Amino acid sequence: MTAPRLEIDLNKIYHNAHELVVRLAERGISVTGVTKAALGSVEMANTLLRAGVTALGDSRIENIKAICLARNSAQIKDAAMLLIRSPMLSQVAQVVRYADISCNTEIDVIKKLSVEAQKQSRTHQVLLMVELGDLREGIMPGDLIGTVREVLSLPNILLKGIGTNLACRSGVSPDATNMAKLSELADLIETTFDLTLDVVSGGNSANIQWALNGAQTDTGRINNLRLGEAILLGCEPLQRQAIEGLYTNAITLVAEVIESKRKPSQPTGDIAQSAFGETLLANDRALTDRGIVRQAILAIGIQDIDPSGLQAPAGIEILGASSDHLVVASVKGDLFVGEEVTFQLNYSALVRAMTSPFVSKVFTHRQYATSEPACTQVSA
Ligand SMILES: *Cc1c(COP(=O)(O)O)cnc(C)c1O
Repeated sequence: MTAPRLEIDLNKIYHNAHELVVRLAERGISVTGVTKAALGSVEMANTLLRAGVTALGDSRIENIKAICLARNSAQIKDAAMLLIRSPMLSQVAQVVRYADISCNTEIDVIKKLSVEAQKQSRTHQVLLMVELGDLREGIMPGDLIGTVREVLSLPNILLKGIGTNLACRSGVSPDATNMAKLSELADLIETTFDLTLDVVSGGNSANIQWALNGAQTDTGRINNLRLGEAILLGCEPLQRQAIEGLYTNAITLVAEVIESKRKPSQPTGDIAQSAFGETLLANDRALTDRGIVRQAILAIGIQDIDPSGLQAPAGIEILGASSDHLVVASVKGDLFVGEEVTFQLNYSALVRAMTSPFVSKVFTHRQYATSEPACTQVSA
């Protein structure tokens, strides 16, 4: 089989997504399956929809377009597609065409969406994102009512709801306080304008602990989460702890050995900068003399992965990497040329591998991505 490759087990992805859909439904929370780390994969989209997610979300309109155009299943045709990054003004025509809903924070963008929606004779739905402390995207809470008033006046725009995004930029954890604030804002909008918000989207995978923390969590008005990492990697992103009952190895990376030799553990000669501007001083592994080691090179590099986000199998240690070479040491025996080594990945290694054209994507258990419904849809 071709290497390097990502092996994506759709059975495990299905299991993770379905588990989260069921557990969160008990708290009255629906799941938007976030596909951004899967680069618009139709197999992934179908699997998530079969597992019961109520919508698909992606940060790139290109990925949403790819999934829409494939339209190879009834599920995708019926699924609501959510653009989870604020649209670029230069892309609003595509956003209106391919996304049903978009997350927004700028009234100028929403006005342009309205103009474009009128042109295309469509209704575009808007989820207003609110800033609650993480300082990435979001309307300041004090400006929200004013923005809602403007949005409600725009033709062909429907206010679908509000949402927030925490943890991504500053690591701010979703908690009782910031989630209660979001609920409060939802109530305030509803009473001020005498309307009902369909969606109050509390956040991403970082919200899992808050949402599933037993009966003591009051989830208030929050009725949706947008989940990527928790489904794909089976862990929560605050402490990167595995979520109980989920697979953490649904996606693995396989690379191939192209050189295997006994070499000294320490370099010889004057040490200056390496290819990526690091000096060995920063990497103290190479400073410890461990005598002769069993060193091997795998044909994959910084172009394709974030080496610090790879977890090697037992007995293999990652020593370093350059653009096309990953250098490892084996303590259990010599690796042979042509041998394949399987790694686990974190989110940053995963997104980079997904976007590298040099890494092929191999789906196993593809029956989970076929169009016949596998289970009854669970929704909040
Ligand atoms: C990436 C992203 C998500 C999904 O994040 P995960 O940590 O992968 O669950 C949700 N919402 C927004 C706005 C995002 O950018």
